Amino acid sequence: MMRLFSLHVLLFLAASTRTNAYVSDPHSAAKPDEAVVTHLNLDLVIDFSLQKIIGTATWEIKKSAHAKQIHFDANGLLIREITDQSGQKLYYELKPRNEYLGDDLSIDLPESVKRITIRYETGKNAYALQWVTPQQTSGKQLPFLYTQSQSIAARTWLPCKDSPGIRYTYDATVTVPKEMLVVMSAENPTQKNPSGTYKFRMRQSIPAYLMALAAGDLVFEAIGKRTGIYAEPSTIKSAVYEFADMEKMLLTAEKLFGPYRWGRYDVLVMPPSFPFGGMENPRITFATPTVIAGDRSLVSLIAHELAHSWSGNLVTNATWNDFWLNEGFTVYLERRIVAELYGQAFMEMEAYLGLNDLKETISELGPNHPDSQLKLRLDGRNPEDAMTDVAYEKGFNLLTRLRLQVGNKKFDRFLEKYFNHFAFQSIVTEQFILFMNDQLLNKYDIGYMRSEVDHWIYAPDLPKDYELFYAEPPFKKVDEAVIQLLTGDNLNRLNTKNWSTYEWVHFINRLDTTPLLIRIPEIDNVFKLTQSGNCEIQSAWYELAAKYQYKEAYGNMENFLLRVGRRKYLRPIYKQLAQTPSGKELAIRIFNEARDNYHPVSQRAIEEILKP
Ligand SMILES: [Zn+2]
Repeated sequence: MMRLFSLHVLLFLAASTRTNAYVSDPHSAAKPDEAVVTHLNLDLVIDFSLQKIIGTATWEIKKSAHAKQIHFDANGLLIREITDQSGQKLYYELKPRNEYLGDDLSIDLPESVKRITIRYETGKNAYALQWVTPQQTSGKQLPFLYTQSQSIAARTWLPCKDSPGIRYTYDATVTVPKEMLVVMSAENPTQKNPSGTYKFRMRQSIPAYLMALAAGDLVFEAIGKRTGIYAEPSTIKSAVYEFADMEKMLLTAEKLFGPYRWGRYDVLVMPPSFPFGGMENPRITFATPTVIAGDRSLVSLIAHELAHSWSGNLVTNATWNDFWLNEGFTVYLERRIVAELYGQAFMEMEAYLGLNDLKETISELGPNHPDSQLKLRLDGRNPEDAMTDVAYEKGFNLLTRLRLQVGNKKFDRFLEKYFNHFAFQSIVTEQFILFMNDQLLNKYDIGYMRSEVDHWIYAPDLPKDYELFYAEPPFKKVDEAVIQLLTGDNLNRLNTKNWSTYEWVHFINRLDTTPLLIRIPEIDNVFKLTQSGNCEIQSAWYELAAKYQYKEAYGNMENFLLRVGRRKYLRPIYKQLAQTPSGKELAIRIFNEARDNYHPVSQRAIEEILKP
C-alpha cells in the first residue's frame, strides 16, 4: 500500500509543477491538456411525445497552440451538424469506446476556431433521462422529465467534456409544453410563463455532472429569504412543512464553514421513482419525496445535499477515484449541521447506523478488497459499480478522527480554509493531503497522525482503532428495551414513546441478531410496523420480513416496491427475496411490474440482483 501511495504522490507532484495541469480522468475522452471549454450556451426543445431532447450546444473553447482536435464525450447522441463561430462546418468523428463510456466525439480544430456549435438529439437509451408518465406523478395530469447526470451520464443528454475536473459556466434556453415549468442547476424562474420557453443563467463554474434539468407541473413556494421549494401542486404543502428548517440549516452551515457561494438554495421534490435520496445540483437539490415523513424526522438528507454546496460543488473531486472528497466530507459537514440543529445525541445515532452499514459493506466486499480504500482505482470500470458507502462513512470516520485530535473549533476553521483555498476547483486526494499536512498536522504538531491518515486513505478495510468514542451508547434506550424483551417482558410494557426513526431502525436491526425473531408477528401487532408510513422504517422492516418470510408484511412490501424507486431502499429487500426460489419468483414478478417506474440506475441495480 505504501508503495502505491508514494507513486501517487510522485505523479501528483510531477503534475503540479506544470501550470494548468489536469489529472487524467479514465472516464472521459476530454483530453483537457489540448483544449478545454469555458462557457456553454445551450438551447433545448423537449419533445414529450417522442421522448427526446433536440439540442444546440455552443461551447466557448480554450486550446493549446498544438491542439489539432477537440474531444467531447457523447453517449447515444445523434449528432446532426457541427460548425464554428462563422457557421463553417467542422469535420468530426464519433469513435465508440465502450457501453458505459459512450463515444469519443473528436472534432477537427482549424487555427481560427473559438466557438463550436453542435446540433444534436438525444437517443433512445439516454440513461440520464427519466420520462415519467402522468400516472407516475402525484398530480397524474402531466408527464415529468428529469435528469440525473452523476457520475458519467451528462454525456447522454448533451455533448460535453464529461469529467469532474473540467468546469465551465452556462446559459440555457429551454422550451417545453405550455403548462409546464422548467428548472435547472442555475438561476430559476418561480412561475410558469405562457410561452413555455424559459431562460437560465449559471455564473459559477461547474463540472458537467452537475448539469441538471427537470420539467413538469411545478409550483414554487418560498421558505426563507434564500430558500424555497419546487414541487407538484399536490405535494407542495407537505414539502414546505417538512423542510421548514431549510433557512436555519443554511445559516448554520455558513456559521460553520463560511459563506454560501451560490446565491439561492432551493429544493425540488421529485416523483417517487427518483433513484437517489438527493442529488446536489447547484442552487437546486433534487430530493426524493420519501423523506416527507410528516414529522420532519428525515431532514438530515437536506443537510447532506446542502453541505455539498461546499464539499463537492465548490471543491470537487477531479476524478471519480477521489469520490470520497465529495462524499466523506459531505457526510462530515451534514452531521456537524445536524448536531448543531438537533443535538449531538441525534447525530451520534446517525453516525452509529452509518458505521454499521459500512462494516456490512466491507464484510460483503471481503478482506483486502480495493473498493474499501478511500482512494479508489476505477480505471477500466464503470464508476457506478464501486460507489459504496465506503466513500461516505469511512471518509466521515477519518475526518471525525482528525477533528477529535484538534477539537471542533480548529477543525472547522481548517475546513473553512480548505474550502476557500480550493473554491471552484477540482482536486485529487493528494492535493488534500498536502494541504492537510501544512494546515493541520504540522500546524498543530500532530505529525504522527500522517501515517494513520495514509492508512485510512490507501489501505483497504478499517484501521484497528476505528471505533469512535461515545460518551453514552447512542441507542441505550433501545438496547435496554431489547434486553427487556429477551427476558420475556410483555411488549406493552416497553417504553417506545418519543423513539426517533433511527431508534426504530436500530430496534428492527437488533431483532435480526436475537432469538426475538419468533416474536415478529406479535411485535408487528403491537407496533404496526408493516403499516408504517416512514420509508426508513418500512425499508428496514420489509428487509427483515423478506429475510424471514414474514408473509403478513408482503402486501405492503409489494406496494412499497411498486411505488418507491429509491435504490437504497429497493436493493436490500430484493436481495433478501432473491435468497429463496419462491422469493425470487415473487421478486421477479414485482420487478416486471415496477420496472417502468424505476430510473435506469435502479433498474440496473435490481437486474444485477435478479439475474439468473
Ligand atoms: Zn452526497
